[in-house]
Amino acid sequence: MQLEGVVRKIRRRALEELRAHGSFAAWREKDFLHGEEVNAGVIVLSTRGCAWALRAGCTMCGYIYDSSRSVSQAEVLQQFKEGVAKIGDVAYLKVFNSGSFFDSGEIARETRQEIYRLVNSLGVKRLQVETRPEYITREVLEEAISVLEPELEVGIGLETTNDYIREVCINKGFTLAEFTRALNACKSTGAKVKAYLLIKPPFITEAEAIEDAVRSGIEASRMGVERLSFNPVNVQRGTLVEELFYKREYRPPWLWSVVEVIKRVKERVSIPVVCSPSGAGTKRGAHNCGKCDSRVLAAIRRFSSTQELRYIEELTCTCKQRWKEELNLEVFER
Ligand code: SF4
Ligand SMILES: [Zn+2]
Repeated sequence: MQLEGVVRKIRRRALEELRAHGSFAAWREKDFLHGEEVNAGVIVLSTRGCAWALRAGCTMCGYIYDSSRSVSQAEVLQQFKEGVAKIGDVAYLKVFNSGSFFDSGEIARETRQEIYRLVNSLGVKRLQVETRPEYITREVLEEAISVLEPELEVGIGLETTNDYIREVCINKGFTLAEFTRALNACKSTGAKVKAYLLIKPPFITEAEAIEDAVRSGIEASRMGVERLSFNPVNVQRGTLVEELFYKREYRPPWLWSVVEVIKRVKERVSIPVVCSPSGAGTKRGAHNCGKCDSRVLAAIRRFSSTQELRYIEELTCTCKQRWKEELNLEVFER
């Protein structure tokens, strides 16, 4: 069976079992903007979910199970307002919907317009949204930019610049050429692009994953993205990655691999490189030996919000040697 067929089968079964009711989330965090550490706010809207995930979706993504079949546009707007009230004053506002902000099936044009107007009243410097490239058109970008007072940043889950890995390991459903078209549309309207890059998709080794992520970061920077965000895979429920994990055929990346990637990329590019690993320090997330995880994770976070390499350069633990040996032997931890 083709990868898409396998993913679709897992998705259909899990959608029946797992999808309950949507819930939104909002929190404050630190980030790096315009050369300094700033307060940022994240609002995760629960919509009807990513259209690609409803069809089959990406091999590592289980966000669709947090969506809701029946959410109305009035409820989406209400979630946004509640999120704003919860996070308070921030310079950098990120509005995520675990899908595509510019997909009118998830967030209608009128809802988007109302969100832009509300954002203007908050005094933020930058609004970030996220979307698959096929929803990026000059029209939706101009609609946003003509209303918005703060800068617009569009996050796109490019995952890798390697089309083979994106198709065969991730089942992402778009090519680098499609990403490039979307990137150029953003550039021509003045919107910034943040590329999300995956660390360790399934079916490749840890060493290959490091090389893929480093190469992708450098290439995406050369292509003109304005920010890189590295996402180490975490094992989400109802995904192909979870099935491999249960069969002991997948281990999330070491935090040492994450440090290696962001360090090597930051040394080669002049744009911000950030990383906020979900589920890190647990068996399902990027992890080390258990003793050093929280220290290494805190250092990655400090690096991300300051861009100062000193936070991740001197890290050490006895497990680092084991990580190096495993890289050489290409052995998965069972
Ligand atoms: S990673 Fe993005 S595009 Fe892929 S299924 Fe999840 S939300 Fe959709
Ligand atoms: Zn350790």
